[in-house]
Amino acid sequence: MKLTLLGTGNVQAAPLYGCDCIACKRAQKNPSLSRQLSSAVLEVNGKCLLIDANHPQLQSRFPANSIDAILLTHYHMDHVQALFDLRWGIADPIPIYQPNDPNGCDDLFKHPGILDFQQANKAYSRFQLADIEIMPLSLNHSKPTLGYLFSSAQGQIAYLTDTAGIPDPSWQQLLRHQPDYVVIDCSYSPLQHSPNHNNLYDVFEFAHAMPETQWVLSHIGHELDSFLHQYNGELPSNVQVGHDDMQLTLE
Ligand SMILES: [Zn+2]
Ligand SMILES: [Zn+2]
Ligand SMILES: [Zn+2]
Repeated sequence: MKLTLLGTGNVQAAPLYGCDCIACKRAQKNPSLSRQLSSAVLEVNGKCLLIDANHPQLQSRFPANSIDAILLTHYHMDHVQALFDLRWGIADPIPIYQPNDPNGCDDLFKHPGILDFQQANKAYSRFQLADIEIMPLSLNHSKPTLGYLFSSAQGQIAYLTDTAGIPDPSWQQLLRHQPDYVVIDCSYSPLQHSPNHNNLYDVFEFAHAMPETQWVLSHIGHELDSFLHQYNGELPSNVQVGHDDMQLTLE
């Protein structure tokens, strides 16, 4: 099972238009430091499962009929915007797994094209896809939002964006399963607090409480990147800063 982070930026991505902060200036000079909007692809048992759909090169990177399913975390535009182009494609229908959000995004439900919206996922109600078990986990955000815990014979990976904290029932599931990796929303530096996203110290607390798991930061804002550039402290040994095209492999 291999999870590739296609993007690790928050809604502003990086470099941010017009911004001259140190992180955006570095990302302009060195494209390997830039961040696309957060999304990922899970490759397992010969299948390709996209998590959110927002990558600017989605269509060339995933040609027609190469996507077996898309799992959506939530219907904010920065997580679903590529669906608007995909839907009019000439290809087999793509099953879309999603949280229960009757509003969806714009007119996607009215004009789905090749997007085959499945019945909404219920938190903690497991289902099988690509011969692995997937458990949706409730998250704390401004729209109905789900994370996903993927369990294969090789191990377990959780993908948790967007969220502020981790709701207790979801935390209990993580404690029970002790995933090898948790990809976690870490939008902000410790100087910022938000009702919708974690900051760095929030994630340090999770990592401290679950030390056997590798915590991989994603949904990172440019202010956090600037903060990390000047940060003198050490990151906890089980915390890694995610980057675009990072691969988490379990074999
Ligand atoms: Zn987001
Ligand atoms: Zn900036
Ligand atoms: Zn969001």
